[in-house]
Amino acid sequence: MSKLTKETRAGLHSATRLVHAGRNPEDQYGFVNTPIYRGSTVLFPTMASLKDRDIPYTYGTKGTPTIRALEDAWTELCNAEGTVLAPTGLAAITLALMTAVKSGDHLLVTDSAYGPTRHFCDTVLTRMGVETSYFDPQVGAAIETLFRPNTTAVLVEAPGSQSFEMQDVPAISEIAHKHGACVIMDNTWATPLFFPPHERGVDLAIEAGTKYLSGHSDLMMGLVSANKTWFRRLRQTFDAFAMCAGPEDAFLCLRGLRSMKLRLMEAQKQGLELARWFEARPEVKEVLHPALPSHPGHDIWKRDFLGASGLFSIILNPVSETAVAAMLDGLELFGMGYSWGGFESLVIPFDCSTYRTATTWAPGGPALRFQVGLEDMADITADLDRGFARLRAVG
Ligand SMILES: *Cc1c(COP(=O)(O)O)cnc(C)c1O
Repeated sequence: MSKLTKETRAGLHSATRLVHAGRNPEDQYGFVNTPIYRGSTVLFPTMASLKDRDIPYTYGTKGTPTIRALEDAWTELCNAEGTVLAPTGLAAITLALMTAVKSGDHLLVTDSAYGPTRHFCDTVLTRMGVETSYFDPQVGAAIETLFRPNTTAVLVEAPGSQSFEMQDVPAISEIAHKHGACVIMDNTWATPLFFPPHERGVDLAIEAGTKYLSGHSDLMMGLVSANKTWFRRLRQTFDAFAMCAGPEDAFLCLRGLRSMKLRLMEAQKQGLELARWFEARPEVKEVLHPALPSHPGHDIWKRDFLGASGLFSIILNPVSETAVAAMLDGLELFGMGYSWGGFESLVIPFDCSTYRTATTWAPGGPALRFQVGLEDMADITADLDRGFARLRAVG
């Protein structure tokens, strides 16, 4: 069998790279996978080597073969210059922001950003003298009017957390770069398989590996990939914080990586099937799924994305909170809880109006976010059908 190298893998499709990137059996006595390397101290063979730091690993915080295997695999998958890991998705976001901004800077953040991202901007960054302005996720090229001389970074997320607005990432990136600003994207929903971030103009791309990369609701992980312009600064910031991910979690993410495409394709299929089922329900006012032609951001999704994952929201026709509780409390296949991207179905009620500042959120009915799991669709819809019956009974 001829050997694949990083260079020959670059010409292969993402599904093939997912299987082969980040492992070198010849370095592991022929075993297929890189094992879990635990460690703090790394021994240098000589004083000269200690002086030159000429060995591949120098200390636990700088990475181990397991950590590097995941970093390398992700870098290849993202067509990035390099990747660093963080212990959670949120830590990856804060690391990317700390890479891009400094005291006195102005930061633009989409009004649809993941809630804890806002919390970081409004507390820690404010305290450090960085001012954040939130913008309408559907602003597109008109974002230019929001730039100030000290605007140094723009944070986008598509689709929006909970609310699923699409963003014109290439247009926003083009304007940001014209102004010398860094484009940070939370790409957790699509993953690099369905949205290749750096090919669309993103400088620092974030993935909450807690979701589809792990795929099994059993760990937390964050990844930041960077293009050539930003990788040095990202690595320097990572080294300064030493917010390291654990080797067991990195190992489990490498395992998740190998089947990520398969799970995402199924999530896409199941998600669309369920979204269409909701569209036909009289209890449902609106389905917020970018792959549906009825979605206001559908054209952008079709132009820029290669697929849709299994997370979307619906707006119910007006009913009481008691009715929604009757529906959700009795569901047998849907757990109620945060996070998503695992094998099991989840639902969570939400209300964006409590935190939005640049846009108003008035959907005209209760909002629910669904994560579709790998259960049989007939069982899923039967469970929801009984749920809607309970909802109608309370009214
Ligand atoms: C869950 C999530 C995160 C944070 O990931 P954690 O690992 O839970 O910290 C960030 N962004 C998005 C869009 C998420 O859904």
